[in-house]
Amino acid sequence: MIVNVNKISEKGYALNDTLDIDNAQLLEEGSGFLEGVEFQLFFKRQDRRIQAQGKIKTVISLDCVRCLEPFELRINSHFDIILFPKELIDTRSTALEEEDLEYIFYENDQIDVEKILVEQVNLFIPFKPVCKNECKGICPGCGANLNMGACPCDQAKNEIKFLFEKVKR
Ligand SMILES: [Zn+2]
Ligand SMILES: [Zn+2]
Repeated sequence: MIVNVNKISEKGYALNDTLDIDNAQLLEEGSGFLEGVEFQLFFKRQDRRIQAQGKIKTVISLDCVRCLEPFELRINSHFDIILFPKELIDTRSTALEEEDLEYIFYENDQIDVEKILVEQVNLFIPFKPVCKNECKGICPGCGANLNMGACPCDQAKNEIKFLFEKVKR
């Protein structure tokens, strides 16, 4: 989905739609879209500098880093970003700080809406996602999901403890 910069007038340009995005665009391993990305975008233009304000709504599936089970993450977020023409880095590359390079650029007067949405979704995904704060994870001994209850190792551990206590006595 491409928006031509010339479409953005002084008054701005609004775009509301839903876009299906390929799972390969997600940076987090094992993640995937469960729904299309619903978005509302409003572009404002100041010469070659474009401000994009928007809202995105979607649901993605992530693998919990503790219990390894997939879980759903609802994304409902706002953003306010600035887009610059890519030509700008070629002419003023020395003037741009490294962090400026994290801005989204547009090329040939074309704004790639998907690129903006993908970046926002990736920003929303937490580092080391967990299904819930109190997730107990898996047992290092037998690999059982400890959210489902105690595993056989637990019992074994208690038995060893019991024997140990007995020996001490
Ligand atoms: Zn978990
Ligand atoms: Zn176990």
